[in-house]
Amino acid sequence: VGIENVDWGVALAHYHADRLEEAYEAALDIGAGLLGRYLTWFRTIEAEALTRRRSELRRITEFAELEVIPDEIGGGERLVADAALRAFQDVGSRFGYSHESQIRLTVLAQESDAPWLYGRFGYCIAKNDLYKICVPLSLLGRPQELYDTLRHEYAHVVVGMLTKDRAPRWVDEMVAMLAEGGVRRDRARLFATGEWSWLSREELEAELLELEDSEGRFMAYLQAGLVGMYLASRFGEGKVGEFLRAFGSGGHWIELWRRVRGSSLDEIAIRAAFGLKPGELFESAFQWTRAGR
Ligand SMILES: [Zn+2]
Repeated sequence: VGIENVDWGVALAHYHADRLEEAYEAALDIGAGLLGRYLTWFRTIEAEALTRRRSELRRITEFAELEVIPDEIGGGERLVADAALRAFQDVGSRFGYSHESQIRLTVLAQESDAPWLYGRFGYCIAKNDLYKICVPLSLLGRPQELYDTLRHEYAHVVVGMLTKDRAPRWVDEMVAMLAEGGVRRDRARLFATGEWSWLSREELEAELLELEDSEGRFMAYLQAGLVGMYLASRFGEGKVGEFLRAFGSGGHWIELWRRVRGSSLDEIAIRAAFGLKPGELFESAFQWTRAGR
């Protein structure tokens, strides 16, 4: 495992610099014995590298560029650029974020459009000097899902920037699910009826960190979304943005408080922004969901 990690360190360093051909070669050299998260990394690097070989980059606004394969996207390029600009503006204004990071939005090559990518419809990854959002070509045929996916993925940029990468996964997905338009009523009802169980904050975090896609993981995304919708309905989305900033503004006093009280950062941020304990937040969000919101 030690040796394997050294090799992957090289591949991932290239990947995070978006040097995809070098990353792909390094990953191919490692070759056999791909397991767990390394298989995920391999598939991800491969998809982005195969795309890069035939793609062109175009700037669509000061803070974003679009990477597409002209032969594959044809007239769809305008559609993606428009959807992206609308999505970025929508999410930025809702959560009080003014686009301080560079974005590379990539429409992945058709040959990589397979169900093995860990994102449901796309993913967002922080690279060294930009955020890269990747979406499958197949989404172009479903404009509303494309728009919602772009809102979801851009919310990960907003969370990363406002919290200075300090948010736990459940907060990250909570805001992303809220940003994409929330959770459908028929799905919320499955929690209300008890068909799906409502998880504690710790259980929710553990489920979201699972590598494999499963029904449990899908439900965890939805629950995170419902917690976000509850917060937005009670306090407003602007307040959710303030909550995110509370992670990032953690100066001296918060550090001291954490050490003395042993509190986690999300606990401190929930208290600071909403005046609630985490347990109260999850219980109230569940009661709100049960009441049919
Ligand atoms: Zn997400």
